[in-house]
Amino acid sequence: MTEVRVRFPPSPTGYLHIGSARTALLNWLWAKKNNGKLILRIEDTDVERSTQESIEGIIDGLQWLGLDWDEGPYFQTEFAEDHRKAADQLLESGHAYKCFCTKEELEEKREAAKAAKKEFGYDGTCRNLSPEQVAEKEAAGLTSVVRFKVPEQEGKLAYHDEVLGTIERAYDDIEDFVIVRSNGKPLYMLCNVVDDIRDRITHIIRGQDHMSNTTRQVLLYQALDAPLPVFAHMPLTLDLQKRKISKRSHGELVSVQFYREKGFIPWALCNFLALLGWNPGTDQEIFSREELIETFSLDRISKVNSVFNHRKGDPKFFTDPKLISVNEQYLRSMELSALAELVKQDFMQQDIWDSTYEGDKKEWFLTTLDLIRDRFHTVRDFATLGRAYFADDYAVEEKPLKKNVLKHPDLKTWMPMLAERFASMDDFNKETSEAAARELATELDIKPGILINGMRTILTGQLAGPGMFDILIALGKERVVKRLRDISPLYEE
Ligand code: GLU
Repeated sequence: MTEVRVRFPPSPTGYLHIGSARTALLNWLWAKKNNGKLILRIEDTDVERSTQESIEGIIDGLQWLGLDWDEGPYFQTEFAEDHRKAADQLLESGHAYKCFCTKEELEEKREAAKAAKKEFGYDGTCRNLSPEQVAEKEAAGLTSVVRFKVPEQEGKLAYHDEVLGTIERAYDDIEDFVIVRSNGKPLYMLCNVVDDIRDRITHIIRGQDHMSNTTRQVLLYQALDAPLPVFAHMPLTLDLQKRKISKRSHGELVSVQFYREKGFIPWALCNFLALLGWNPGTDQEIFSREELIETFSLDRISKVNSVFNHRKGDPKFFTDPKLISVNEQYLRSMELSALAELVKQDFMQQDIWDSTYEGDKKEWFLTTLDLIRDRFHTVRDFATLGRAYFADDYAVEEKPLKKNVLKHPDLKTWMPMLAERFASMDDFNKETSEAAARELATELDIKPGILINGMRTILTGQLAGPGMFDILIALGKERVVKRLRDISPLYEE
């Protein structure tokens, strides 16, 4: 059997879009499933729009997602010679011709077609120029583009798509498209095919937005006498208003970097992206890498557009809630050592990493992550919502502050009392600390909840979280005592 070879060929004109990441992922899955190869090719032919920053961002994004490739990155501009040769071959074999029509002439024809309410397609003025006529025009210094000569025949061009079945287009509807610009530069349409042929690509998995190219590219394959790869077109991803998700309409929300910064787990994002336009045929939602590779198939890619469920302005919908839910499920269930690694990366960035978390305090660090992860949505939450466990400069949320602290001014004296009781304990554990708190409540003749809720807010800044006495143990006697001894600043703000 021939080796499966797929490619991911981004144009480096911006950041790594989540739609492109999905394309990369599906190609990666197909390569892995078939023991094949994924080729990374940077399509930098559009020199004006391509940037080094974008190339780095794309590579960085793929690496962060864990999508490795087997060959490349190749750079399209390095193969300009191949592209020119292919254009020459097409001219020589009569599959292409030089077109001398000027921009102005074409514009005039386009306007005329518009006025007559007809669709404009190149009318073939230069299609049948004789070699002498061409030589004459060139001698006169006229410049030309190269156009592909679409076969003049009845009927339809057809190719098979693994997702959509047979795709047909009437030959009549395909205009003689330009493959080389007047400055001698071959266009993307041709370069892309030439590279795919050279890279021996067997499967082209890309978005349906490329389908109009595919028709023309099938003609190029035929004219270049190359076997057709298998095509699989993925649906577009639209928002709730049925707009394509894009930087213009959705800003950073469509960039992989956004999710990285927000503390999403790379594989959770992949898992979500796989489900955006691919359906396992079961209710299963969470897939490990191995499971996804095993289950993935091209014929389960959806035919219809997928929906990115985002409601602007609704904080719960700051991105698709399904993505948040998938991320939470990973956060709760992933190996603690793997979670610790992600948290470490984030803590280092936030400047709250302590190297003893990998040394003396390793056990404590893992237990604490496990204790608090249940309520968190992203990795970032450990440094924000969970900050009190790792640093002293944590914020106290307003709602619990009002409800559990400010409402009870006597806590200013009660908490230091409790602090002293804790301080004098030789064996500070869940049971003894709880007993001490309840005893004090009885002595003061107040509900234990007042002390317990107050403590929770003062010690963690949060309204809810793990069991109170688990929190005390996680924080340790020393920090608990220090934080309860003087709480007056909380009443001053
Ligand atoms: N450079 C093209 C893009 O980024 C690749 C299209 C293709 O997959 O052939 O859209």
